Amino acid sequence: SGGFRGTGLVKHYRRGAESVAALAGVDLAVAAGEFVALVGPSGSGKSTLLALLCGWETADAGQLTYAGDLAGRRPDALGWPELALVPQALGLVADLSLADNVLLPARLRGTLADDGPRAAALLAGFGLDHLADRYPHQASLGEQQRVAVARALLLRPAVLLADEPTAHQDRGHADRLLDAVRAAADDGAAVLVATHDEIAWSRADRVLSMRDGLVTAGAPV
Ligand code: ADP
Ligand code: ADP
Repeated sequence: SGGFRGTGLVKHYRRGAESVAALAGVDLAVAAGEFVALVGPSGSGKSTLLALLCGWETADAGQLTYAGDLAGRRPDALGWPELALVPQALGLVADLSLADNVLLPARLRGTLADDGPRAAALLAGFGLDHLADRYPHQASLGEQQRVAVARALLLRPAVLLADEPTAHQDRGHADRLLDAVRAAADDGAAVLVATHDEIAWSRADRVLSMRDGLVTAGAPV
């Protein structure tokens, strides 16, 4: 088993002299093999929660623990291949081709040759194979987003986090992205996806709702 759990997560941001509570005591748990969708209005804290889970930000209070092979690790010590994030801003490397962006985690791990076929399969599966040699500025936002998802999936992360991964997709491409995310969970990943996409909710095992920095409801779907 694997997965992760957060208890009492609190995070404040400073805005001038003010302190804004982005997270006001969040409890959540995502098990290995589970695909959990995170919904909530803009500003409710979804991106901040993802930032804590991937180690970009540290919590002011609360506990964040990973289970299984990742037990005892701090979020800022996790990265490819254990944890992958699809950030809202995508974070593609501007001077790498789309194919090389997908392959970046393999390059960092030193398994470029072994992971090449999976990168090619992901590109093809997301309708990107004819764009492999283009650079991010030569691709649409939707295409760039599919590259970011492919890059996140490349090394079969134990924890997969995604911020609105279908935001720039038409229905067909969104379905293919969600199939791949669903498959990652079915292969054992703990998956948390912030999304307004109702189709994503229907593919998830559970939907958690956030409001004003709190997880307010979680219902099985
Ligand atoms: P969501 O992803 O649900 O839209 P966010 O986590 O982005 O919510 O934001 C939660 C709250 O924290 C909002 O009030 C937002 O304005 C604030 N916030 C988020 N990031 C920052 C930041 N870097 N600096 C200041 N305030 C922030
Ligand atoms: P989307 O519906 O995903 O927003 P666009 O309308 O932006 O797509 O782009 C349509 C097509 O034009 C895509 O196949 C994309 O590859 C191509 N394209 C978009 N921007 C550029 C660019 N700056 N240079 C080359 N091709 C581009």
